[in-house]
Amino acid sequence: MKRTVIAIAMSLLSSTAFASDGAAWGYTGDIGPENWVKLSPEYSSCAGSNQSPINMTGFIDAELEPIAFDYEAKSSEILNNGHTVQINVLPGDTITVDGIEFELKQFHFHVPSENEIHGESFPMEGHLVHADKDGNLAVVAVMVTEGEANDALAKAWAQMPEEGETVTLTSDISPLEILPENRDYYRFNGSLTTPPCSEGVRWLVMKQPITASKEQIEEFLHVMHHPNNRPVQAVNARPVLQ
Ligand SMILES: [Zn+2]
Repeated sequence: MKRTVIAIAMSLLSSTAFASDGAAWGYTGDIGPENWVKLSPEYSSCAGSNQSPINMTGFIDAELEPIAFDYEAKSSEILNNGHTVQINVLPGDTITVDGIEFELKQFHFHVPSENEIHGESFPMEGHLVHADKDGNLAVVAVMVTEGEANDALAKAWAQMPEEGETVTLTSDISPLEILPENRDYYRFNGSLTTPPCSEGVRWLVMKQPITASKEQIEEFLHVMHHPNNRPVQAVNARPVLQ
């Protein structure tokens, strides 16, 4: 009984948070991506000229510094906000880019991929979202192809939350299990791929994909009820570095 009350309270809390996050938006119909900019003045950036995702092509060779990954901390909870399934991590996981330390906040997924490489879409894409001490964002994106099951997803999906639910994880899920072995990456300047579409986000897209099983990808889509990818946006004047 007590458990039920807590579960209801938590789902109310999360739906309240949801509402106060701004105007409702989605992936289809009147509240779909083409209309995000019209849904609220707070979403004006969605019509910006440095939006994500993009089709990455016409790469410019640059001597990109390796990203220094320092991931050790554990994940704490998994939630389904109706837009994605997200895993929150405890403080302590960082990457260093441009000499700046960014702390990992959460990682989540999109089916199919949002970014494309040479016009190629992938079955799924993971986003590891980091923020520096001033709130600047850096997203490490990982493409997922169909193949061997992914261990982290196996543990996470074992506690798959329904829409509006947040569940405390009972097993350790390391964000390292979401990264490919080879950490070479593409880089461009972009935005959040969801409202409010804020720009100034460092996008670091791993060149090497990881794999997940067909069942793992399908289970995510089943829980989401629909694809959750924003279509690719105009690249405009932005270089894509490799
Ligand atoms: Zn994302």
